[in-house]
Amino acid sequence: MRQSQLFTKTRRNAPTDEVAKNAQLLIRAGYIHKEMAGVYSYLPLGLRVIKKIESVIRNEIEKIGGIELLLPSFHPKENWEKTGRWNSMDDLYKVTDSSKREVALGPTHEEIITPLAKEFISSYKDLPAALYQFQTKFRMELRSKSGILRGREFIMKDLYSFHRDQKDLDRFYEKAKSAYTEIFKKIGIGEKTFLTFASGGSFSKYSHEFQTLTGAGEDTIYVDQKRGLAVNKEVYTDALLKELGLKKGDLVEEKAIEVGNIFNLGSKFSKPFGLTYKNEAGEETPVLMGCYGIGLGRVMGTVVEVLGDEKGIVWPESIAPFQIHLISLGEKGSAIEKSAEELYVGLTKNDVSVLFDDRDLRAGEKFADADLIGIPYRLVLGKETHKEGRVELKKRTEEKTSLHTKEELISRFTKIHV
Ligand code: ATP
Ligand code: MG
Repeated sequence: MRQSQLFTKTRRNAPTDEVAKNAQLLIRAGYIHKEMAGVYSYLPLGLRVIKKIESVIRNEIEKIGGIELLLPSFHPKENWEKTGRWNSMDDLYKVTDSSKREVALGPTHEEIITPLAKEFISSYKDLPAALYQFQTKFRMELRSKSGILRGREFIMKDLYSFHRDQKDLDRFYEKAKSAYTEIFKKIGIGEKTFLTFASGGSFSKYSHEFQTLTGAGEDTIYVDQKRGLAVNKEVYTDALLKELGLKKGDLVEEKAIEVGNIFNLGSKFSKPFGLTYKNEAGEETPVLMGCYGIGLGRVMGTVVEVLGDEKGIVWPESIAPFQIHLISLGEKGSAIEKSAEELYVGLTKNDVSVLFDDRDLRAGEKFADADLIGIPYRLVLGKETHKEGRVELKKRTEEKTSLHTKEELISRFTKIHV
């Protein structure tokens, strides 16, 4: 894509009311736009990152047997009354229409997926099942000061699994845990993300959170680096440490953000909706459920918090909006510009994604924008290198540069992305 046609522009300053680093950088670079506290638009660059994150997650979830669907945001009040959460859930948005009918704006989807599953699950032969979606959630978050880490409207991948017994649920739960570990590794925050024991499992002693270490996080966890495990401060008890074989002396207190959560729901939702199946003996038995969430915006914001530097955003290749930022320092109609144009065409023809800075701006401004936007590789065509028929290559994470011919670059990047 040509930067002259990107629609968005970078800006020198973030809005003064925006305190979170992730939102400041993402707004300045033109990835998102703030509409009100906790509500953001995803602009063309931002949407490309969201789609990349979505694709990493989808690949891993499909590998463990997840089947994708799309559930609605408007939820019948009766479903939420059935589980008691119409009144007990503080952050539930309730909407009334002109005929006084009340509906909920879905903050999560157990109240939809469970009665839906009842339509299709009746026998042990229909189990197990795992359904997931990428969908917008609404939550009345009162503390929306963390940029896209905590939205009042945000996109979540939510997966729900259905099982005949605890053993089968445990088996899938472990697979989901491994899939999550793989997802965060692929997204580039694996080293800083810890499987964390937390309270809240309905039918197990605890749930598992995936917590990424960052000062921007709102949770406090105790990390055992060697074992790659952590415990949330809210559940930190001597009994739990003993159970997990963790020693106080090995634990370090850290600030972290929950990027994913997996839950053993047991029959908490299948009971109120009467979701049962007939076992081999013909007996009606409650279906057991698990649920597994990841916030896409939260993951995107976390990457910015964790990997960003004083110059701007640093995207891992797996989720970068483009692989290459190609910068032409030639004036309109110059041989340099023509050469940059050729390289742009050569790369894009080979399916390498390129943001081509063809704007009429000074070199310093283009470089500063490239650092702010954070694309992994920068290619520059300037006067000096042009004389030798070379293009300068630099990684966003490194200072050193190297010179290459256009043909070398086309073949190198084509190979990486086949
Ligand atoms: P938190 O304790 O941070 O509020 P939660 O326990 O409410 O999180 P879940 O209900 O388990 O979160 O949601 C699953 C995932 O959705 C979380 O792990 C997180 O990645 C994401 N998420 C939750 N709330 C938000 C939010 N307000 N904005 C963006 N992402 C969110
Ligand atoms: Mg919450």
